[in-house]
Amino acid sequence: MTCPICGKTTDADYRPFCSRRCADIDLGRWLTGSYVIPGEALEEDEPARPDPPADEAGEAPRRKPH
Ligand SMILES: [Zn+2]
Repeated sequence: MTCPICGKTTDADYRPFCSRRCADIDLGRWLTGSYVIPGEALEEDEPARPDPPADEAGEAPRRKPH
C-alpha cells in the first residue's frame, strides 16, 4: 500500500499515508474542498515556495560537483 498523497510506502502510524505531513495535506484538501483537483502530487521535502531571491538566480548551477 502506498501513500495517496505522494506515493511513498505507507507508514503504519499514519496509514493510509506515509507521514504526518501527508495526512495533514489530505486533511487540508478535504477542508478546503480542493481534494478532487488532480495533478497536485507533492515531491517529498520540497515544499512549494515562491521564486528564488534575485541574488540566488545568478549563482552557479546547483548540481555543480565540488
Ligand atoms: Zn506521503
